[in-house]
Amino acid sequence: MQAFPFRTFDDIAKLRLEVHIYCPNCHRQTGPIDLGDDRLRGRAFAGTRFVCSVDRTYGSAQPPRVCGSLGHLVIKPPARDYIPPSRSVPWCEIECPRCVPHWEVSQAAKHLPPWNRIWTRPGIRLACPACRAPLTTVWHGGDEVPFSEGYGRGTTPPSSPKLGL
Ligand SMILES: [Zn+2]
Ligand SMILES: [Zn+2]
Repeated sequence: MQAFPFRTFDDIAKLRLEVHIYCPNCHRQTGPIDLGDDRLRGRAFAGTRFVCSVDRTYGSAQPPRVCGSLGHLVIKPPARDYIPPSRSVPWCEIECPRCVPHWEVSQAAKHLPPWNRIWTRPGIRLACPACRAPLTTVWHGGDEVPFSEGYGRGTTPPSSPKLGL
């Protein structure tokens, strides 16, 4: 198994990726969070707890209470690198089946760093940087992946240079 390409919030900031927090109770996603925050300095992203502070109303008989649910960490590319579903550019979702709180990478594009140094051949498996469990990867948008968005479309990713044939 291959090592995961980053571990701390500082690493994520250096790679210009974003961290959003999803509350499974409120079904709300907030972010990106400020990766320059002092409390995150040198911290491993996996295992860091974000608690939802949304006020929730539980019926009119009770006063609103703070949600308090443990947020999921969602690591994403910035909007300019986001791959829309219609493009046949391969990317994968990565998540740890074991970590609490849950974390995931929502778009690990095959052609962008740091992922382009990892997906160099088929069958590569990544280990969780926190619990060492094998990570779950689900591919989308690849011409070679049946039933994914880009299957059979046969175009090249936008970053690869066109050959003048
Ligand atoms: Zn919540
Ligand atoms: Zn894990």
